[in-house]
Amino acid sequence: MAAMTTRLFRSSTYAVSFLQRSLSTAAAATESKPHSSHPRIDPKGKNIQWVFLGCPGVGKGTYASRLSALLGVPHIATGDLVREELSSSGPVSKQLEEIVNQGKLVSDEIIIDLLSRRLEKGESKGESGFILDGFPRTVRQAEILTDVTDIDLVVNLKLPENVLLEKCLGRRICSQCGKNFNVATINVKGENGNPDISMAPLLPPPHCVSKLISRSDDTEAIVQERLRVYNEKSQPVEDFYRAQKKMLEFVLPGGIPETWPKLLEALNLDENEVKQSATA
Ligand SMILES: [Zn+2]
Repeated sequence: MAAMTTRLFRSSTYAVSFLQRSLSTAAAATESKPHSSHPRIDPKGKNIQWVFLGCPGVGKGTYASRLSALLGVPHIATGDLVREELSSSGPVSKQLEEIVNQGKLVSDEIIIDLLSRRLEKGESKGESGFILDGFPRTVRQAEILTDVTDIDLVVNLKLPENVLLEKCLGRRICSQCGKNFNVATINVKGENGNPDISMAPLLPPPHCVSKLISRSDDTEAIVQERLRVYNEKSQPVEDFYRAQKKMLEFVLPGGIPETWPKLLEALNLDENEVKQSATA
């Protein structure tokens, strides 16, 4: 294991720090820095090093990529990193191919290696931050990530389970162009003081209508199981960041038109101001 880690992390500045800290076994788990009692959200004039959490179907990728575009930082999804490595001849592409062909899970070490290299490449290109999507999924990954880079803020996107279920069951993909749509119309009364949630469907253009398919794993039983597994795994990760006062919990009030302005508000971002400062 040690040899493999050394090989994987060779010539990486992030990795060097990871290795050094890993040698001291207690360091990763117990290290904590002083933090204010609320997540400090001051996106102006500083690096954006954010993590987006959220259960499957919540639209995490959509909001992470919109914010990336607005803030001029990359949206880094670990699933994409794995796909890119597989389609390239990168240092772990052979190893990944074997893992994927055997239907095994990609190890934390490989994911962190891909991520470290991606962040390093970004840093050398002058990227001023990132929004991570789909990582970390476990506390162990969160601890390793702490050694690789600083995370300023973790945005946890939430929706009630019945809304998520309806949303997942409404998902459709065009078998021809690959675009994603959603045929569900959601109108859920808010309970326990929560606001009502309304989401319009995201309907396909006429030429896609006859080619729509659903993912075979978007059935009620499978979606419910997926949510249960997600909640079980993500709870400790949420607690990890909550303890560091880095968590911003955000319940989506609806679809993109309702959510986007409210999300910007919660993040202390003014869309026009950000756009102006980018063109100045
Ligand atoms: Zn289409």
